[in-house]
Amino acid sequence: MMYYIYLLFFVLGLCTGSFLNVCICRMPGGSSVVAPPSSCPHCNTRLGACDLIPVLSYIFLGGKCRYCGSRVSLQYPVIEMLAGMFFVLAAWHFGSTQGALSASVFISFLLAVSVIDLYHHIIPDKIVVFGMVSGILLNFYSIPAVLNGILGFLIGGGILFLVALVSRGGMGGGDIKLAAAAGIYLGWQNTLLMLFLGFLLGSVIGLTIVLLQRKTIKEKIPFGPFLSAAAVISLFWGNILIEWYLALLM
Ligand SMILES: [Zn+2]
Repeated sequence: MMYYIYLLFFVLGLCTGSFLNVCICRMPGGSSVVAPPSSCPHCNTRLGACDLIPVLSYIFLGGKCRYCGSRVSLQYPVIEMLAGMFFVLAAWHFGSTQGALSASVFISFLLAVSVIDLYHHIIPDKIVVFGMVSGILLNFYSIPAVLNGILGFLIGGGILFLVALVSRGGMGGGDIKLAAAAGIYLGWQNTLLMLFLGFLLGSVIGLTIVLLQRKTIKEKIPFGPFLSAAAVISLFWGNILIEWYLALLM
């Protein structure tokens, strides 16, 4: 692929990141992500086009609102840069338009879910529906792909549903729906890997946080970000990891 494709994906990623920030701020409260236009959360001044250029506006305005001078959350440029970099990675890794597009939409979904879950400990149904519908539209292009996606959906949702039953509420409904939606994108093998890596990351990092902050286990650490990180690893390197694991068994 030519370099301008990467540039195109980078810019697309930055703009998508900007939209993801709107989703992250508005979706938990149930407000629309299309209207009204963005305004400063402190002084309510409607933001102009120059205030909304991804990353650059933040840098040139020194991380402050142009009108009232209050601090703008670092979340905005970070999410924009992350989306930009992941879109380029998707274009480089998958090459084909379908693969790169599907991976980019999937990662956007996971980014929004992770940050909302971190802040609010919820995964809104609206965003899960988006994940499932986009997963179907972008990945169901052949009969084997359809079957693989359906299996991924059932395995992702099914296994976490069983975990929820056994642990009596240790697993939230949002996590179950997130795993099911991710399963459509990943197919059954990578969905199994995602669940394995998600639990691994969750227990290692979760335990570290508990030990460092001396929190009790009862204080809930959201599972969505771990599951999302595991989904991204499975998306890009799942095939390599599974091959390597199977070779170990032989
Ligand atoms: Zn302001």
